[in-house]
Amino acid sequence: MPKKYHIDTKVTPLELEYIHKFRIERGENCINCGRCTKVCIYEVHKRGRDGDSRKMALPSTVTCRNCFRCIQECPRGALEKSLDGDFLNMGGSYWKPDMFITLWKQAEDGKVPVSGAGYRGPFTGPGFDGMWTDMSEIVRPTRDGIHGREYISTSVELGRKLNHLVFDENGKMLSEVQNTIDVPIPIVFDFPYEELGANIRAGIIKAAAKLNTFVILSPKDITPDVKGEMKNIIPLMSYKDIDANLDLIRSVRIVALEYDEEMEKTLPAIIEKIKKLGSILTMVRIPATRSVEDAVLKLAQNGAEIIHVVADYRGIEIGTVDAENPPLLSRDVIRAVHLKLVDERVRDEVSILFSGGIAMAEHVPKAMICGADLTAIDIPLLIALGTRLYEEPEKILVFAEGVESLSVGTITQRMVNLMGAWHSQLLEVMGAMGIREARRLRGETGRAIFYEEIDADTFGKLFKKSETVSL
Ligand code: SF4
Ligand code: SF4
Repeated sequence: MPKKYHIDTKVTPLELEYIHKFRIERGENCINCGRCTKVCIYEVHKRGRDGDSRKMALPSTVTCRNCFRCIQECPRGALEKSLDGDFLNMGGSYWKPDMFITLWKQAEDGKVPVSGAGYRGPFTGPGFDGMWTDMSEIVRPTRDGIHGREYISTSVELGRKLNHLVFDENGKMLSEVQNTIDVPIPIVFDFPYEELGANIRAGIIKAAAKLNTFVILSPKDITPDVKGEMKNIIPLMSYKDIDANLDLIRSVRIVALEYDEEMEKTLPAIIEKIKKLGSILTMVRIPATRSVEDAVLKLAQNGAEIIHVVADYRGIEIGTVDAENPPLLSRDVIRAVHLKLVDERVRDEVSILFSGGIAMAEHVPKAMICGADLTAIDIPLLIALGTRLYEEPEKILVFAEGVESLSVGTITQRMVNLMGAWHSQLLEVMGAMGIREARRLRGETGRAIFYEEIDADTFGKLFKKSETVSL
């Protein structure tokens, strides 16, 4: 049995003040009896206000676990918990406030979130939430994969694969076997934000190296302190900048190039130039605009080894839309790309990396079921550090106060924890679906249920027009 891929998680609290779901407040009628300090095992309540050890300090809301014990035990009814208004304002139509709680928790302990009170949310929603995986293979505890009682591989292969092998009359193989790279988890890191502090940048890179996956970076962010992680870095540049970065390209395993229409013709020459520098795979990064599948097909036919299709961070295609042309959802963009390549019989000759709206662990297998080979994430890496995202009136990221002073070790471990939790959930989904290799998830739409389709099938005949979920 191949060695099991394991992610070492470790409880790593974030010692920063960041917004939480509930605000806990102590009223004026507190008599400083200290009972709450004794009943709260999470040390939310401490003495020491204004340097006076007799007075109670402000509660540390972020470490509260919402058990309500202190509220029940306070002899004066001085403690109050309420939903934080700022918390409810976070995100927008796609990034829901509860997603932040889940991601914060996963980054803290690396565990699969479990709700003891059962799931009380909706069963469908926009984007990937309108898609369910077929769990009909649950014939054993789904955690067998996580605990190693059965082997489930989450690794995927990057690069061109041959459709078939060709031999001469003497049995000598004529086909040239292409270089491919195994990634143990179908997730790479995309660089989330232009102006990150040096500690966050280093933490993301070190987490990618620890997980043995990749991080996509601009050459200007590849500073001497991260040179030891070059085999996990994918530099992203214009093809026009290749000559200015020859040494950098020689030191990596994959180089990413920004898409340019010219490349549909010049790509073979560009790839040849890169291959002369070493055994390096070429990735083309293309925005997921309307009909992106046509450009992807041309790139694949011209030798692209990996194509990174980048959708909007809200899980929709990129570009101007209006009431008559609502945006395509990410999952429909991936399906269009995958089916186009299948129809033209070149699907196995290229790897499709997809990003945009991958916000939760379950979005990874869902994107793969729609046709991606693997996914890239960016914003969840920042949310792991207590960052807030607002969609309206425009995309705004608000960092937790003091994030610039976090140690690289803490940042790295929180990102590793996040991926540990996502990896466990991927194993659960695959175990329940009866799929033992992540690469077999690709394009398996027969193993998924799409809300709009069953809604139309079931109720369309009764009500003529089916109600669909829109953004
Ligand atoms: S238990 Fe109530 S009264 Fe006593 S210190 Fe805590 S908040 Fe104040
Ligand atoms: S609700 Fe529970 S976890 Fe939160 S402060 Fe009170 S006792 Fe501590």
